[in-house]
Formats: sequence, structure tokens, C-alpha cells
Amino acid sequence: MMRSHFLRPLPLALAALLACSPGAFADDERDHDRGGDHHGARPPSHGHGKPIDWAGTAYRKGVVAVANPYGAEAGARMLERGGNAVDAAVAIAYALNVVEPQSAGIGGGGFMMVHLAKSGRTFAIDTREKAPAAATPDMFVGVTRPDLNGVAVGVPGMVRGTALALRRWGHLPLHKVIEPAIDLADTGFAATPRYTAVSCNNGGRSTNSPEAAAFFCPGGVPAPVGQVVQNKPLAETLRLIARHGPDCFYKFMPEKGCDIAQGIVEGQKFNRPQVAGGKGGSMTLADLEAYQPALREPTVGTYRGYTIKAMSPPSSGGLTMLQILKMLERFPIGDAAAGYGFGSLKTANVMAEAMRIAFADRSQWMGDADFVPVPGKGLLDATYLGARGAVIVPGTRITPNPVAGDPRPYDVAGTKPATRLAVAEPVTGPGETTTHFSVVDKWGNMVTYTNTIESSHGIGVFAGYTRPDGSFRNHGFLLNNELTDFNTTPSVNPYTGGPGFNDVQPAKRPRSSMTPAMIFTPDGRPLVAYGSPGGSTIINSVLNVTLNLIDHKMTLQDAIKAPRISVTSAGSAISLEAGIPQATIDGLLALGYTVATTEIGSVQAVVLDPKTGLQFGAADARREGTVIGLPR
Ligand code: GLU
Repeated sequence: MMRSHFLRPLPLALAALLACSPGAFADDERDHDRGGDHHGARPPSHGHGKPIDWAGTAYRKGVVAVANPYGAEAGARMLERGGNAVDAAVAIAYALNVVEPQSAGIGGGGFMMVHLAKSGRTFAIDTREKAPAAATPDMFVGVTRPDLNGVAVGVPGMVRGTALALRRWGHLPLHKVIEPAIDLADTGFAATPRYTAVSCNNGGRSTNSPEAAAFFCPGGVPAPVGQVVQNKPLAETLRLIARHGPDCFYKFMPEKGCDIAQGIVEGQKFNRPQVAGGKGGSMTLADLEAYQPALREPTVGTYRGYTIKAMSPPSSGGLTMLQILKMLERFPIGDAAAGYGFGSLKTANVMAEAMRIAFADRSQWMGDADFVPVPGKGLLDATYLGARGAVIVPGTRITPNPVAGDPRPYDVAGTKPATRLAVAEPVTGPGETTTHFSVVDKWGNMVTYTNTIESSHGIGVFAGYTRPDGSFRNHGFLLNNELTDFNTTPSVNPYTGGPGFNDVQPAKRPRSSMTPAMIFTPDGRPLVAYGSPGGSTIINSVLNVTLNLIDHKMTLQDAIKAPRISVTSAGSAISLEAGIPQATIDGLLALGYTVATTEIGSVQAVVLDPKTGLQFGAADARREGTVIGLPR
């Protein structure tokens, strides 16, 4: 599926590939000359809150910020053809399946948060994968490396979720929006540095099945950077979806040529026979046919006068991030004169403590609210959080480790008497997978969308099946291993003895950390749409950027570039990115923390200035972040 000649004229985004250096979108005079509007260093303040300073090149006709140049190009094209932010977002999601197949695609799911300019409504389309009907809480017990086995495959959600988004809020038909992805799969794209770097190197997943190994890592060698990569089987799958609609993915309809569902069901039977303890999945055609996306209200809170909306359950992202923010609000985070300010010991110390407390709550109280009574109101209740955060004392590290509180008395909606609690915390990696992108269109609609197949390359198995003649019918897209986001060992609630909120149940969605989020002015106008990949560190990446904007007054690009700090459970080390001052690290060690240096997240953000209507974008150099603003 790969061709060895290099850089023939590509159908998309050679220009975007060249533009993918992060310096290309900050203060870019070239775009200014062509219709972009340079906005100067200090934008006006918004409402009565403290101003956020985004600076950079301003646009009026739409901006996309994507972790891959080809994905960005696909989105920009939709906006140029009259599409809105929803059309662009769906085009990006499909294109990324081709060019960033390790991160996300039609074999997985995610959360697409939308703000509609006209109605002022903000909501999320939950395309998160579901457990099959025959799934059981103990289905992972005794399985070696669940991430490599079919038992981890959830019923994929992207195709129906994005089709719903287009039907209800898009301007363009599905077949137009999928076009860039079909083009990329059919005629190819030049392997990007990141594609090459991860193709043979990701915990054995890209080589888990013979078909994936042959595609990503033939002979143990990845496609070199710049080599044209084609995926004809995926092009054919996408054409089927474009022609027949989402049902062609979810229903086995051989009379129409729709055999994708069979490929998913057969693919997830993969049990890695070469390893003892392998286990295939139980998904059936009926599970696929039954899948439906959900529309959800985001979780809402405030921070220093700004309103923040972020993904609600089954994600833990919105609740956990807002808990941390509320616990931090009493500290003068932005005030260097008071010993705080960016990167200081005091700031890192209180951030780490608030994270430890919130993640203790997360492990007990968050899961799929369609199945368990998540006490969302209690978790964000001011009195509850006041008490939880009162134990944060700058200059100290809480010992023993914080444990979950009991927010139920503060939960206005109340909970059922037999409340079930989670204990176990699935371990997620630093973020080689998953992808986040953000879009604003010329009408002021905004989308912030995190999409995933969980681990990099999912389970490393393409949807597909063996035909009667023995040949392999390959559908060209990877199956997720999202169900590893459940507790992989059934857990016991220390209070009631009942099962955990995030234990496996049939048709339940595993708890996520994905945190697509938006910041609104104090008077309710949308300002920033942003998010990140990175497993449970997602919550903290989004939090870091929020503090950088609101407290540290960084520009949007600097807020994304600045080194991050993350703790994802009450007892774990502080992860720090290179660039945090050594004095701060020494101070943290002296307080009793353990620290580890690592890379955290990949944030893509767009801004809409409510006063001027000007639009900005920024993307993350940690991956291949690309911003395209219009007109270009
Ligand atoms: N599956 C993870 C979640 O939903 C995201 C994976 C990642 O970002 O690495 O929280």
C-alpha cells in the first residue's frame, strides 16, 4: 500500500505540510497581507473579566487548528466551500483516520462539543464506544495485555455521531465532507515525521496482526518521512459510507456491498493466539446495529469570572478540571510578587495538590452517568470543594495521600441509596495517541473535538474478514481498544461493598478523560475552544492552558507552548515537561514529591473575539500542530 517515489504533486496540503512549523502561524505578516488582520499585542478586555491575551494573526472567515497538516487542509477546504464548523470538523475527523491512523478514526469514538452562534447553545455529541451486550465486569481478568486483544474493542461511535452532527447542524452532505479523506486514502499522502516515528514503535500494537504489521512496519521498517502512503482498502470503505450513509457501517447489508459490520465483528474476535491468555471480543452484528450516539449538556462551572464548559460524563474531564480550578481559585496563581506566577514552586505545589484531591474523587465517583449515579452537582458544590481544598497548604505535601470525599450530601439531585463506587484506576500512557482539533467558522460557530481509538494503533487489528477463498477482505481502519478505559479488575466500593462506577456493564461507555472545552466571557459569549489528547493527563493539559490564559496572561500560542505539570492520581509522581525551572523541581523534591520529566498532551485551540469578531488559532509543536486561517 505504500509507494516509494517521493513528493509527486499531492492532492492536498503540501503547502500545509510546509506550514506545519509552529512559527508559521504566530504573527504571520504574510497572512496579514492576504486578508488576515494583525491584531496587535493587547486585545481589548472581555466583559468585566480579566482580559485573555491571544495575539497572533487574526482572521474573519474561519480558522482550523489540527494536530496534522493534512487534517487541517481538509477542514479549511470545507470552510472554503461554504461549510460550517461542523462540516469542517467532520471532514477533519475522517481525514485524520487516513493520515493519523494511529490516533483516531471510524474504528473508535470521541466527543465533539459544538457552540452554535445563532442559538447560543453549547452541547456535545458523545460518540464514545460502548461495551457489547455480552460484556461482563470480569471479562479482562486473566487476559494478558488487554490492549492487544479483541476483548478490548468497543462498539465504534464516530460514523453515526458525525452523521448526526452533519444532518442536524451541517451545511454539506456526507459524501462531500468525506471527499478529502477518500482522496488522501486513494492517492496518498507524504508520511509525516510523526507517522514515521510511531509506525513501528508503540508497545507492539502496530505489529499485533499480520495485516497491520505489513502496512505500518513492513520488514520492521516504517515508511520514511515523505514516502507516499496509500490506503486503498480504507478508500473503498469510505466510499461505501459516502454512498450509502452510516448504516453501511453499522448494518451488514451484502446486497448493497455493505460488509463493514462483518469486518468489525470478525476483527474484534482477534485473540492474539501467539500469547497465552489472549481473548477475543463478544461483539455481534446486533451490538453494531444498536449503537447510537448521545447528545449531552456539557459540565459547566466558573473560574475567575469566566464560564467554562467541558465534557460531561461519561468523561471525567469536565468534572475533574472544574474541581481543580475551583480549588485553585483562592490562590493568586498569576501573582509573581506573591510568590506564585508561572512555573514557580508555589504554583506547581498548589496545582499538584488540587490535582491529587480531584483525581481521588474521580476514581470513585465518575463513570457513565447513563448507568451509574454520578454526583456531578455534589462534586462541584462550593461547600464541598471548599472543604476538600482547605487541606491545600502552600509549602506542604498532603500525607497520607488524599482519598475520595463523599459528595453525595451536596448533590442536589441526590443519588440512589445503593450507590456504587469505583476504586481501580486504569493506567493510561502519556499521550502518543488520540487527537484534538478545534474549529471556528465565519458565522462564529465553534467546534472542539477530541477523537480516539484509545492506545496508539488501537488493538493493532484492521476491521476485515477472511473470504471463503481464503483471501483477506481488509476494511483498512484500525479497531479501538477503548474498553481498557474501564476498570479491568472488578472493583469494590469501600463504603457500600458494591461494584465500581467504572466497572464494565453491557452497553456502558468506559469512563474517559477527554476534555473538549470552551471558555466563555463573563456575559456568556464564546471565547476559546480547546482540548488535548494524553489519557488521564488530558485533564491537566487543558487545565494548564486555562491557567496560562486566565492567570498568566499568555498569548494563545504561548499558553500552548509553555511546559505543563500533571498529576493523575493521589499517589503518583508529578509529571513535568522540560522547561519547568530547576529551582521549582528542587523545591518539589524537598517537599516530598517524586517527579518525572515527560511530554504531556497536544493542544489545538481557536479563539473568537466577541467584540471584534476576529478569529485566532494556535496549535501544538509537540506534534504536528497546524493552523489554517481564512481567507488565506
Ligand atoms: N481513551 C482515552 C480517554 O478517553 C484517551 C486516550 C489518550 O488520549 O491517550 O480518556
